[in-house]
Amino acid sequence: MKALAVFPGNPGTLHLAELPKPSLESVPNGRGVLVRVLRVGVDGTDKEINAAEYGAAPEGDDFLVIGHEGFGQIEAVGSEVRELKIGDFVVATVRRPGSSIYDRIGTSDMTTDDVYFERGINLRHGYLAEYYVDDADFIVKIPQGLRDVGVLLEPLTVVEKGITQAYEIQRRLRVWRPKRAAVTGAGTIGLLAALVLRLRGLDVTVFGLQPGPYRNSELLEQIDARYVSTKSVPVAAGAAKYGPFDLIFEATGFSPMVFEAMQALGKNGVLVLSSVTGGARHVEVPSDKINLDFVLGNKVLVGTVNANREYFERGVQDMALAEAEYTGWLHQLLTHPIAGLENYEQLLATLTNARDAIKVYCEVAPIPAPTRRGSQSASAAVVEMSVSAPR
Ligand code: BGC
Ligand code: ZN
Repeated sequence: MKALAVFPGNPGTLHLAELPKPSLESVPNGRGVLVRVLRVGVDGTDKEINAAEYGAAPEGDDFLVIGHEGFGQIEAVGSEVRELKIGDFVVATVRRPGSSIYDRIGTSDMTTDDVYFERGINLRHGYLAEYYVDDADFIVKIPQGLRDVGVLLEPLTVVEKGITQAYEIQRRLRVWRPKRAAVTGAGTIGLLAALVLRLRGLDVTVFGLQPGPYRNSELLEQIDARYVSTKSVPVAAGAAKYGPFDLIFEATGFSPMVFEAMQALGKNGVLVLSSVTGGARHVEVPSDKINLDFVLGNKVLVGTVNANREYFERGVQDMALAEAEYTGWLHQLLTHPIAGLENYEQLLATLTNARDAIKVYCEVAPIPAPTRRGSQSASAAVVEMSVSAPR
């Protein structure tokens, strides 16, 4: 089969590789699932892997198949797989268990091991291939009506984890009724964070660099979130006007923003950090003031990475909710499809150069038409639901 791989450690080596089709039997106990890949999203992590700033090959190989935002359809299942069947649309999680206690209870996203295994990123091959095989434990079913947007699930899970953890942390307050949230960054993750916070009923302000209106600010308007360009309103001024913020989700990829967000957080608030910043930037900050306000305001700062199965399942639910509430919105995030694995150079060029891209993804194979009744596309299904729902 065809696959897209790099030679980790050597920059700019993305290439089309020819590999054997994986077999069900490579997974023990009859728990294998063979997935035909349909779409794979790419992001900054893939760019860094190709630049040899990140990522490692599996033991015994000198290459790494990239791609961690997969979406596909099941072609075969092992004898002990009951929860999934041939024809199901699916997304696989990214991280695989190591040995810490967190790994052993199904939360490898919280591993304390130094070495972590991530498909398409670190020590495990990814999904930018015609097929992959994995254990059913790591494969999450996507309802037929969400098949057109299923490729957005993995980036959404990063947001789901961050927000779920924030709510979990805030149980410390006995009563927490968040009303206003802010998101810093209006890229793919920022947009998805705004969506999830809107679905939770919060008043959402998103801070981005670019002056509006532009595509992303208009998308935010469609879900009744407010877009503010930091060129005209800095985060502190935005907080005075639209805060106090009970929750801030940081997703700019620019670490100095963390300290601005810390100063914009309301009393008892929680700030979630999700940007993976591989650089070595230094900034000067008003540390006494930031510290004092955190102490006197009982504030929390939490980092979040990756996501376990629980957040993938929550992501599926929120996608369905999003289609019911903001029909067609998710679809608009799929801005840059690139057809065929063989067009990997264009995939990489688009990822690198298309500054207005929200989601760049490879259409590895076309999404097959629905196979049974009740499996229309998301918008058709929603119309049917609203017609038959009792008032
Ligand atoms: C992926 C996560 C991963 C992180 C760090 C992100 O791009 O979406 O799944 O944990 O990179 O490797
Ligand atoms: Zn990613």
